[in-house]
Amino acid sequence: MILDFKHGLIVSCQAEETEPLYGSEIMQKMAVAAIQGGAKGIRANTPQDIKAIRQITDLPIIGIFKDRRPDYEAYITITCEEIDEVINAGADIVAIDSIYRSRPEPLEKLYRHCREKYPHIKILADISSVEDVKKILTLKPDYISTTLSGYTAQTCDRSKPDIHLIREITELTDIPVIAEGNYFYPEQVRMAILNGAYAVVVGGAISRPQQTTARFVKHISDLPSSDITAVGVDLGGTWTRSVLTDMYGNILKSYRQETPKNAASVLACIEKCIEKVIDGKTTAIGIASAGRIDFKNGKVLYASDNLPGWTGTEVKKEIEKVFKIRTVVDNDANMAAYMQWFKEKDGCILYITVGTGIGSGIVVNGKVMRGVTGSAGEIGHIVYPLSSNSCTCGKKGCIETVLSGRYLSENLSDINNPINEKDQRILSEYCKTFAWLVDTLKNTIDFDAVYIGGVLPRYGSFMLESIRREFEKINLRNPGDIIKYSTVGEEAGSVGAALCSLFIDE
Ligand SMILES: [Zn+2]
Repeated sequence: MILDFKHGLIVSCQAEETEPLYGSEIMQKMAVAAIQGGAKGIRANTPQDIKAIRQITDLPIIGIFKDRRPDYEAYITITCEEIDEVINAGADIVAIDSIYRSRPEPLEKLYRHCREKYPHIKILADISSVEDVKKILTLKPDYISTTLSGYTAQTCDRSKPDIHLIREITELTDIPVIAEGNYFYPEQVRMAILNGAYAVVVGGAISRPQQTTARFVKHISDLPSSDITAVGVDLGGTWTRSVLTDMYGNILKSYRQETPKNAASVLACIEKCIEKVIDGKTTAIGIASAGRIDFKNGKVLYASDNLPGWTGTEVKKEIEKVFKIRTVVDNDANMAAYMQWFKEKDGCILYITVGTGIGSGIVVNGKVMRGVTGSAGEIGHIVYPLSSNSCTCGKKGCIETVLSGRYLSENLSDINNPINEKDQRILSEYCKTFAWLVDTLKNTIDFDAVYIGGVLPRYGSFMLESIRREFEKINLRNPGDIIKYSTVGEEAGSVGAALCSLFIDE
């Protein structure tokens, strides 16, 4: 028989005695469902289940016999007798725990037994690492499966699923590699095939509905009924603002105080700002900070001299220690961008805030783009070919040096009423440059709309109209009205932080 499941999905239909779907009849039905959905094969545990599934399909069955014994580490089909049972029940492929670790019968013996007694049966080697593979190449398994990656002491730190391992094995041998272990999303299955997997086994994500349910529940379990609040803090160079909001971003309470000039006092200041607004229904705290933030760990990777000593501060850890409430920390422009997205609730937006510098954030379908090092959207340091001004970052010609609020206040003779000819010329040049930036970014990320916040909206609609006109001159495909003034005000950072803390779960 030729086993044809190349680039197919194999569904592992297993339920242990303690699980709700335990029983061969149920696993048989699970297999029927999997096959209806397009599975090219089934992986099944125990002779009873294999037998039941064999009755309903001719598709390849990978059979295993899970046998956990206190004295041994190996546990997937570990004796010759188990191999006999799995094969006699109707498996086409027998999966054998093929890591050199303590076991009742030597690995070589199991392979020899299977080869001699069942020459038509294929052997699949369940392994955890490329080192395991090197040791078993002489046994010549027919397939190698990454099943055990993540489940041994040596591999517990590997990424899940371990797509990289597929590549490592395919570089070592031509034996077909089957990807298995911790595949939860369809995109991961696709990635596995693109990385060289012969086929992919998905288990619990399909055949353990209790796990699937839990995954859905986890994403909403910390979201409360509508009767909850969140605290958002926006740590600015001059003011630190805090708000208490409901889950729709409505401000219930707010507070602000001046930002102190050293890191230890900044933490104390944030704590005070939280204390001033927090109530008994607060379930999350969000903190918006300038600088580059390690979002996952809530740590400041880099902050400028506006906040001396702030770099390296473990904000999330410190705040969670004090308040014992889930805390998220992100760049202030990202938080404000999220607030803007939350108002639109759709598509891809770019948010640009014009302040001392130029900050920006990109939000796509509710996901904030952070990049690999947390600096995605740092558009202020894109170099503008027509400028050679020195930037605070050390480079020359950054767009921030000609578009920031600081540039305007240093160059306009009357920032509040720029009506003289020289000021008009500066503003007109400013709008051209801004249009150049929007065009560059539209060509890069093709957003639905760009929202400009910070000091710019204060100049009124003539500035916006002028940027739109200049944009239409250079970008021939898009209307100028994709450029808008931000509709979120001064509280964008703090309210955005509160909303991020409630909804962003990455
Ligand atoms: Zn720069």
